[in-house]
Amino acid sequence: MSKKKNGESVPARAAIDKPSNLPELALVAVRDTIIYPHLMSPLIVGREQSIRAVEAAIATNQRIVVFLQRNSEQQDPKPEDLYPIGTEVSVGRMLRMPDGTTSVFAQGNTRVQLVEVLQSDPFFLARVMPIHEPVDKSMPTEALMRAVLALFEKTVRLNQNLPDDAYVAAMNADTPGWLADLVASTLNMEMAQRQELLETLDPITRLQKISILLAKEVDVLELQNKIHSQVQEEVDKTQREYYLREQMRVIQQELGEHDPQTREINELREKIKAAEMPKEVQEKAEHELERLAQMPSAAPEVGVIRTYVDWLIGLPWAKTTTDNLDIAAAAKLLDEQHLGLKKAKERILEYMAVRKLAAEKMRSPILCFVGPPGTGKTSMGRSIAQALGRSFVRVSLGGIHDEAEIRGHRRTYIGALPGRIIQTMKRAATLNPVFMLDEVDKIGADFRGDPSAALLEVLDPEQNYAFSDHYLDVPYDLSHVMFITTANMLDPVPPALRDRMEVIEFPGYIEEEKVAIAKQFLIPRQKAEHGLVASPRFSDDAIKSLVREYTYEAGVRNLEREIANICRKVARMIAEGKRAPSNIGEQSLFKYLGPTKFTFGIAEEKDEVGVATGVAVSEAGGDTMAVEVTLMRGKGGLMLTGQLGDVMQESAQAALSYARTHAQQLGLKVNFDKIDIHIHVPEGAIPKDGPSAGITIATALISALSRRAVHKEVAMTGEITLRGRVLPIGGLRDKVLAAHRAGLKTMLIPKKNKKDMIDVPKKVQREMQFIYVERMDQVLPVALTHARAARRTTVRSASPRSARLALQANYRSRPIRS
Ligand code: ADP
Repeated sequence: MSKKKNGESVPARAAIDKPSNLPELALVAVRDTIIYPHLMSPLIVGREQSIRAVEAAIATNQRIVVFLQRNSEQQDPKPEDLYPIGTEVSVGRMLRMPDGTTSVFAQGNTRVQLVEVLQSDPFFLARVMPIHEPVDKSMPTEALMRAVLALFEKTVRLNQNLPDDAYVAAMNADTPGWLADLVASTLNMEMAQRQELLETLDPITRLQKISILLAKEVDVLELQNKIHSQVQEEVDKTQREYYLREQMRVIQQELGEHDPQTREINELREKIKAAEMPKEVQEKAEHELERLAQMPSAAPEVGVIRTYVDWLIGLPWAKTTTDNLDIAAAAKLLDEQHLGLKKAKERILEYMAVRKLAAEKMRSPILCFVGPPGTGKTSMGRSIAQALGRSFVRVSLGGIHDEAEIRGHRRTYIGALPGRIIQTMKRAATLNPVFMLDEVDKIGADFRGDPSAALLEVLDPEQNYAFSDHYLDVPYDLSHVMFITTANMLDPVPPALRDRMEVIEFPGYIEEEKVAIAKQFLIPRQKAEHGLVASPRFSDDAIKSLVREYTYEAGVRNLEREIANICRKVARMIAEGKRAPSNIGEQSLFKYLGPTKFTFGIAEEKDEVGVATGVAVSEAGGDTMAVEVTLMRGKGGLMLTGQLGDVMQESAQAALSYARTHAQQLGLKVNFDKIDIHIHVPEGAIPKDGPSAGITIATALISALSRRAVHKEVAMTGEITLRGRVLPIGGLRDKVLAAHRAGLKTMLIPKKNKKDMIDVPKKVQREMQFIYVERMDQVLPVALTHARAARRTTVRSASPRSARLALQANYRSRPIRS
C-alpha cells in the first residue's frame, strides 16, 4: 500500500470503517489544544457555537469531535479552515469558570478524519471516519518503546515541571501509538508540530519522531541544568564570603578588637604626617585616606587608593642633602676618578663657585653630555653627584614613544603608575639629586603623544617647580634637581630641548688617552672587582694591543670589557688552584681573548682608481668610510647605492656636475652621455647622510673618470659646491681621530675648519699631515697620483676595508653622518 504524506492517505496499518456507517458527531473547533487518544484533559470552550455543541453532546451520546483550526486568531472558522485530522472525545460535566469561560472534562478516544460537515448552525455537525491503529508487538517495536521510555525517564528526572506520575503512566501505555501520544502531550512544542504528530497515523513512525524530539529535549535540559548549577555556585560563594566577613566584623567588635583595616589607616595617617608634604598634597592624601576608611575592605578600589597613598608617602617632599661646596676637594675628587674631560670638570667647579656666592638664587644648569658610548658620560655624572654630596639617579629615555612613560597614566587606568620621572624621584629619596636622563637623542614622537614635550616641562625652570604627573595629580617640585642629559649625537635631539641645555662634548679618546685610562682606572677597578689583589700586571704592549687589535671604538667601553674578560679568566685559574700569571703580555692576549679582531694600519692596501677615503661621524664616534665609483658603458645615468640619504645624494649630484663642467680643465676625455656612473658607499645596510662626503665623492669620481689612482693614505672631508668650492663641516675632532685611528697619514680639511684643530690632541697633529683646502683643484693634486692606470671600465667591487668594517657591529643602528 502507498505511504504518502501523513493524514492524506490511509496508512499501511490503519483500518478505517466503511463510509455507510460513519458516525455523525458535534464538532468543536479549538485554537490551542490537542487532545490525543487515551489522554484526559480539560477542554475550555468559549465560543457560543462550541458551547451549544458540547451541550448537545451531553444531552445525547456524550461524544464530540475536536479539530484544530489552522489559524488560531480566526473567530468563526469555516469547515475548510480546520485541519483534516482530529480526535473523537468523550465529555463529562460542564463547569463554569470564574473568568466566564466554560470548561469541560474530555477524554480522547480515537483519531478521526473529517469526511463532511452536515450543518454549521446552531453548531457544527460532522460526519467523521474513525482511524483505528493496528496492534504491533514485534521485537523492533518493543525495542523502540523501551528506548523511548528510557529517554522519557531521563526527561522527567531533569525537568522539574513534569510530575513523576508522567513516567508511571508512560510505563503503562502498552501500544507504541499510545506511548507516542502520551509523551507528545508532555513535551513543549508548537501547535503545528503537535498537529503533525496527530496526523502521523502510523504509530511506529510517530514513536520514532517522538524519540528524536526526546533526545533533543534531554540535551537541552542537561545543558540548562549545568548552567543553572554554575550560576548557583557563584552566588553561593559570594553570599558565603559576605556572611563570614560580616560575622568576623561583629565578633571583632564584640571582643573590642580593632579590625586590621582601621589599624592600617591609622598607620597611614601617621606616615602622611611624617612625610612633610606641601599643604595641598597633604590634604589630598588625607582626603583619599578618608575614602579608604569608609570602604568595605573587600571593595575593588581599596587596592588602587592604597597604592596611590603609598606613592604620595614614598616620594621625597622636603628631604634634601646639603651641597658640599668645597671646590678644592671637589676638584681633587673629579681628577681622581677621571682622566682628562677638562670641560666637564671645569663647568662643575664653576657652578659650585657661583653657588657659593649667589647661594639659593641660582638655578641649576641643565648640562647635556654629548659623545660616543664609553667616553665616561655616566661615570662623570656619578662623580659630580659625589663631589656635590647629592644622591645620583639615572633613567634611560631610549626608545620612549609615549608621553605617558614620562608623565604617567591617569589613575582611572587599571594598573596605572606614575611616569619615569616620579618613579626615579622616589628612588632618589631626596629632593635635590643629580638626575641623569640618558639617551635624549633616542626619544621618538608618534600617535601616542610627544614625550619631548613632557620632557621640556621637566627641564624648564619656569615650570618644573610644579611638574604635573598624570598619576600623581598633585604638582611635584623638580626645581632643586640638577639635571644632566646624555646623547650620542646632538642632531636628533629636538631643537626646543637643545635650547634649554648647555652642551658639553665628550669626544672620543686617542690611543694614548685610552692606554692611560686603562692603566689608571680600568685595570685597577676590574682587578678589584674580580678579587685580584696585586697580580697580574698588564704590560704597556698588551694594553696597546687591546686598544688597537681587540677594540675599535671612540670610548673605552669595550676596552674595559676585554680587561674584565682577562681578569675573569685569571680569577678562575686562581679559584681552581692553578698557577696564575703574574704578567699579562702582548703574547698572552691570544690565550685569553682568542685571535685579534681588528687589523691596525692603513685602510687600503694599495693606491686604487675610483676609491677615496672619507670620514664620517656616527653614534659610535668617527669612522673612515670608503666611496667607490664604477663606470660602465651606458647612456649618461647616475646610480647611487649604500643607503645614502637625500643630502648625500645631492652631494653626489653636485660632484658629478662639477666634474662635467670642469671636464676640460680636469683633462677628462670621456663622453658623459655614453657612460653610466655607479657610486657606492659600502656597508649598504647602514643609512648614511650629510654633506661632508662631497669632496670624497668628487675625488673618487674624477679618479675613475681620469683613471688616476687615489693615494691610499689620504683621508678627506668637506662639502663641495657646484663651482668646486670646499665648505666647512662639523665634528672635526672625531673625524680627525677616526683617520688617525685608521692609520691614515694625510688629511684634507676645509680651510674654514682650521680653527677647530685646537680640539685635536697635539700628538695627533704631530703624527699626521693636515692640508687645508678651499677649492677642489687644491684637493686633486694631493689626493690623486700622477700615473694613469691601464684603461678599463669597471674598477673593482669590494675593498678589504669594508670587510673589516663589517666586524664592527656595535652601535650601528643609527645613521652615519659624513
Ligand atoms: P658613557 O656613559 O659615555 O657611555 P661610561 O660612563 O659608561 O660611558 O664609561 C664607560 C667606562 O669607561 C666607565 O667605567 C668609566 O669609568 C670609564 N671611563 C670613561 N672615560 C674615562 C676617563 N676619562 N677616566 C676614567 N675612566 C673613564
